[in-house]
Amino acid sequence: MSTIFGPIHSRRFGVSLGIDLSASTKQCNFDCLYCELAPLPAITKQHDITPVETIIVDLKHALTQHPNIDVITLTANGEPTMYPYLEELIAQIDTIKGNKQTLILSNSAYLSDPKVFHTLLKLDQVKLSLDAATSEVFRKIDRPAEGINIVDIINSIQQFSHVYHGKLFIEILFVRGLNDTHEEIAALNQALLAIPCERIDIGTIDRPPAYPVEGLSFNELFDLSHHFDTTLPIHIVSRTHAQAIPSTFSHNDIITTLDKRPLTEDDINALFDEKSKKRFQDLLNEGKITSIERSNVIFYLPSQNKERKRPKTAQKS
Ligand code: SF4
Repeated sequence: MSTIFGPIHSRRFGVSLGIDLSASTKQCNFDCLYCELAPLPAITKQHDITPVETIIVDLKHALTQHPNIDVITLTANGEPTMYPYLEELIAQIDTIKGNKQTLILSNSAYLSDPKVFHTLLKLDQVKLSLDAATSEVFRKIDRPAEGINIVDIINSIQQFSHVYHGKLFIEILFVRGLNDTHEEIAALNQALLAIPCERIDIGTIDRPPAYPVEGLSFNELFDLSHHFDTTLPIHIVSRTHAQAIPSTFSHNDIITTLDKRPLTEDDINALFDEKSKKRFQDLLNEGKITSIERSNVIFYLPSQNKERKRPKTAQKS
């Protein structure tokens, strides 16, 4: 079985070739309720380990077949930072990747391990998950292996965000009745305010979950996004299950809504009815609305807000 999959066309990360660091079986230090893989008790170490040489041979071959990709993504049937030769693998990828970016999709559990922390600093892009900020909700939703705790995870993400020079993304997946409460969002918000990053992608369950849990609708995610500080770069990503009900927005409603939370074209298509989309277009043509790009995603906001961003230096307190 090849360790490489794709290319996958992702709006968030571009065209990506994936490397599966646990190709034959699920190996994860979490057993998330929403996992799209089969439920399996969390473990702390990989027991089925693919040699680095095998991955590099597969990757070289895939790169000759797909020379025009943007990103090489380290992922796994499980957690990629559990792969014991990650540092060596990244060093070898760096020698053959050319102008492509390297990216890892991690659940953040092992970021408090100094070896993992320093290895991830070497990647061009890092996406870290943070589904909860309190121990109780974290244990319920992510069901971690023994010894993993949310305080260490948040501390290590905050430290990482202050020393990392690449693009850092945070992802939160919301599950109905678990991490969508006001208390949990307030705790997440507090943690996120100390994490400078490119984007905070918020989503919900899009595929059949390992356990019987439910996602949120798009409108619920949209409402929930307003409970985060307006300076945080929140981006709603879920579409499939999160069907929206389009509503009517006046010119004023549109400006007020964009003032609270910049929206993407997908958000606008999901939230605005046809007349409201026309009003949005008018405001854009009149220059009252403008756009900014954040790592492949275009956001619309009132023109007067364009400079109203969190200054990077102020974030690094
Ligand atoms: S971290 Fe990812 S692979 Fe592991 S259990 Fe959670 S969703 Fe599944």
